[in-house]
Amino acid sequence: MEQETKELRRVGLKVTHPRMRILQIFDEEEGNHLTAEDVYKKLLAHQEDIGLATVYRVLTQFEAAGIIIKHNFEGGQAVYELDRGRHHDHMIDVDSGKVIEFVSEEIERLQREIAARHGYVIEDHSLVLYVRPKNHARKA
Ligand SMILES: [Zn+2]
Repeated sequence: MEQETKELRRVGLKVTHPRMRILQIFDEEEGNHLTAEDVYKKLLAHQEDIGLATVYRVLTQFEAAGIIIKHNFEGGQAVYELDRGRHHDHMIDVDSGKVIEFVSEEIERLQREIAARHGYVIEDHSLVLYVRPKNHARKA
């Protein structure tokens, strides 16, 4: 509770019940990528009477305040995750929609080299791999 209160104040948001509860859900699920509906269902499971419209509004406020990051991966709803300030890339399981995080120093280095070869430095990047479990792979 205290952690969430501090975090809301730090980013200049008034401490309200929906904001507290939604931030708690992200804190409990650290490293998880949740849709607005996932958040809504988790609130329901905790007998919280917070509507989906409120969830969307709070998520938009959190995104604007830099608490969470929104991803628009292909073929699914937007997912949100806590901004832990650590760069990582994503893999999306196209069968289940599961989001897997990864970091590859080799890929990071290659990207810097490629940009440099073109006379650029990387400002930002996001890499998304759309994957299928190996044993479910489609035969060519
Ligand atoms: Zn992530």
